[in-house]
Amino acid sequence: MNGAAVGAPFVTAVRERGRFGREISVNPVPRAVCSHACRHCPCGPTERLTVDRAEFFPLPAVLAAVDAWAGVHGAPDGVWFDCGGEPSLYARLGELTCCLRHRMPNVRIGVRSNGSLLGDAAVRRELGLCNAVRVSLNACIDDDYRRIDRPHRAVSLEQVLIGLRLLRKAYCGMLEVDTLFVRGVNDTEVNLTGLVGLVLDVRPDRYVISTGGRAGDRGLLPVAAGYLETAARLLEAAPFPVTFDTP
Ligand code: SF4
Repeated sequence: MNGAAVGAPFVTAVRERGRFGREISVNPVPRAVCSHACRHCPCGPTERLTVDRAEFFPLPAVLAAVDAWAGVHGAPDGVWFDCGGEPSLYARLGELTCCLRHRMPNVRIGVRSNGSLLGDAAVRRELGLCNAVRVSLNACIDDDYRRIDRPHRAVSLEQVLIGLRLLRKAYCGMLEVDTLFVRGVNDTEVNLTGLVGLVLDVRPDRYVISTGGRAGDRGLLPVAAGYLETAARLLEAAPFPVTFDTP
């Protein structure tokens, strides 16, 4: 991924060979504005912890930036709204998705979300406009959730889990769930068995498990090998692909 200067504000990264082909990341939410303050955030500490959706930047300005990029480089094959600044906090995300598709009829659109606002039906509807939705779900019990993701106090894990199930029922696109396990943070047995049960029930189109210890992880420790082996055993009959993204 070429992360930095790509020639237009809001277009924050380019991947030449991404899921959809040549992809760009579009971030309509300022960096470090999030409903979580995850220990593992690649953007560093959350500066504004919020659950209030807003039009942080005017929609026309975001569209103009994408137009400017596409004018120079050609229309991308895919656009991702990436976590780094939680995308679902953008109050006009649904409109942004529709406008991009109108401008670039062949583009495929994905969103990586922390899932914190899934309890909100409007958020689910807007995420559901994307071709792919990837939701991070690092815990299914409140203590572990608060330890690893450090959500805004108004975020209810129960609502997140209900929202995820409702999204799955209503959404026909590609739904992925990913979980990061970190040693000493959310690697409890009850979290693992609970998450596996939940994911088997939700039946995403793909489940990705990762652990600390990769480059750039800022000291997060990988879980014990036996923990991942247990996860693999519990998921061996899963009717969807399970991927382990480990160091
Ligand atoms: S949800 Fe994403 S952007 Fe927000 S703090 Fe966590 S890793 Fe960072």
